[in-house]
This record gives sequence, C-alpha cells and structure tokens, in this order.
Amino acid sequence: MASTIKRIGVLTSGGDAPGMNAAVRAVVRACIYYDIEVFGVYKGYDGLINANIKQLYVRSVSNILSRGGTFLLTARSEEFRTKEGREKAYENFKKFDLDALVVIGGDGSFTGANIFSQEFDVPVIGIPGTIDNDLAGTDFTIGFDTACNTAREAIDKIRDTASSHERLFFVEVMGRDAGFIAVNSAIGGGAVAMVVPEHNWTIDALIKRLRKGAANKKASNVVVIAEGCQLGNAYEVADAVKKELGYFDIRVTVLGHLQRGGSPTTMDRVLASRLGVAAVEGLRHGESKVMVGMINNEIAYTPIGQAIKTEKRLGAEEFRIAKILSI
Ligand code: ATP
Repeated sequence: MASTIKRIGVLTSGGDAPGMNAAVRAVVRACIYYDIEVFGVYKGYDGLINANIKQLYVRSVSNILSRGGTFLLTARSEEFRTKEGREKAYENFKKFDLDALVVIGGDGSFTGANIFSQEFDVPVIGIPGTIDNDLAGTDFTIGFDTACNTAREAIDKIRDTASSHERLFFVEVMGRDAGFIAVNSAIGGGAVAMVVPEHNWTIDALIKRLRKGAANKKASNVVVIAEGCQLGNAYEVADAVKKELGYFDIRVTVLGHLQRGGSPTTMDRVLASRLGVAAVEGLRHGESKVMVGMINNEIAYTPIGQAIKTEKRLGAEEFRIAKILSI
C-alpha cells in the first residue's frame, strides 16, 4: 500500500544536544529520497504556533553534520502546554498541509508530541535528542556520547593539575535526575568515586573511599558529582568532605553548559543518522505516537507514553566496575 505521508514537519525542542543537526539532516534527506516534502519548524513548538516554518531541501542541510546545537533552533514553549497554544499549532499544521510531525527532543518534548497527536489525530514520531540519556526505549540518546566525551576530556585535564598539586577535585557534571553522564565520564576518566542520584551514597561512605585512596597513596583524586545527586551540589559535597578530611587541598569545578556544545562524536552522528532515516521510514509504514530508538544496535519503535513513563535504570555493573578500579 502506498504511503499517505506526503509532507512532514520536523522540529527540535527542549535542551539542545550535539547531533540534533545530524538527525534533522537525516530526516530531510530521507524524506527527499522517498519523495516526501519536508518542512523545518523553527524554535520548537513556538515555531508551530507562530508559523515559523520553511520548506527544506537537500542543500538546506549541507555542512551541518559536524555542528553542535541545532540550526532549526530550539525552545521551551510555555504556550504549547496550553490547549489554545496547541490549537494554534494545529491550525498551522493544517495550513502547511502537513501529514506528520517529527519531534527531536527529550521527555518533555515527547509528552507535548503525544498530547498533540492524541488531541488532533496527527501522526507524530519522536527522536531522542538529549545529553541526559534518560529515555527508555533506546540504549543511547543523541548527544549523550558527545557530552560524556566532553566531560571525560575535562576530567583528564583536571586530573593533570590534581596530580601535580596533590589536590582533591570535585567535578560536577550534567544529567538532571540521571547519573548516566556521571558514571560514564567517571569510569572513562578514572575517577576515585562518583556520586549519582540512583545510588545511595553517604558522605561517610565517600570519606571512607577517599581515606582508603590516601592510604594506598593514590596519585590523583577526582570525584564526579552528578548535578541531581542527593548529597547536594559539588560545593556542598566538597564542604562536607573538607570538615572530615582537612588535609586535602580541595577544589571544585562545575562543567555546566560546555557539556551541551561541541561537534558531535561519530557515535552520535551515526545514531542520529540511523534514527532520522528510521523516523521517516516508520511514518511511511504507519507508525505514530512512537519514539524511534536503538536497542542492541537494532531500530526499535516504542510507544511514546511508554518511553516517557518507564524509568531507565543505570546498570549495577558500572558501579561494580568503578569500585574495583578505584582502589
Ligand atoms: P531536555 O531533556 O533536554 O530538557 P525536554 O524535551 O525534556 O528536553 P522540556 O523543557 O521538558 O525539554 O520540554 C520541551 C517542551 O515540550 C516544553 O517547553 C513544552 O513546549 C513541551 N511540553 C513539555 N511538557 C508538556 C506538556 N505536558 N504538555 C504540552 N507540552 C509540553
């Protein structure tokens, strides 16, 4: 049966992530390959509400594969959270004669996409683009690998100064309520400990780990703190540790937004390319209200409701490995 999808809109929404451009490029080129007209919706859902929509062509997405951020721009649209806002968005959806919408973003963006799809019976498909990797239905989200590499590279540099001065560094990384960036950058960067929301660390346990490292004459001490961890931010954790371990020269580095930027890694570019093509092919085959992800290196379509409601858990294996290697 021939596909009824002839015109697709694509937008990026929520926090930007490296590789979003690669995903847009893949959506645009896959559409054109399948003779589908494709329209870029600028500034996330605000663009749909304000008709900030332009047709994209093969060359519209030249030279964006290697660029971080998103050339479509992104936004957090308060108006789209309202019924009136979504009605305006639907008016423009109809005005531009769109048949389906591809939304590249995180769980908030997918919640909005799901509601929009249900209210107006519009086919939508989500592509997971967030550095946090906090979405079920995919092993990795677009941007996560790049963010981990950025954080790990920073940890490598901090380690150089930490070991030269025999300092103890607390490095805070992003990830919202999830510790994926923290765990990966901590293992990759050889941190002595990582404090993440998913794990019940206490200050006492952390101090014990650091004392053991000092007794073993550990050359450098870097502790990675996930921004959403239950012990507080990196400054608070550092203060609590300092009270007990006064002999350490303690410093704090908060990596912040530099983790969001930068040229995407090959992993992120390939992931974005595969998911972008799979989103268009999924719509052609009648998929809707799903998120396209990659599970065990295979494309997987998961109902959006399930992807946003299911909690993605950090594996216990990473903690086990990190403990063994931090002696
Ligand atoms: P990140 O993971 O990077 O923060 P995100 O997609 O989760 O990305 P949010 O700010 O949570 O980012 O959501 C992006 C946008 O999605 C919101 O600004 C809003 O326009 C829309 N959205 C989120 N939740 C809803 C909702 N309940 N109803 C309608 N729209 C929503």
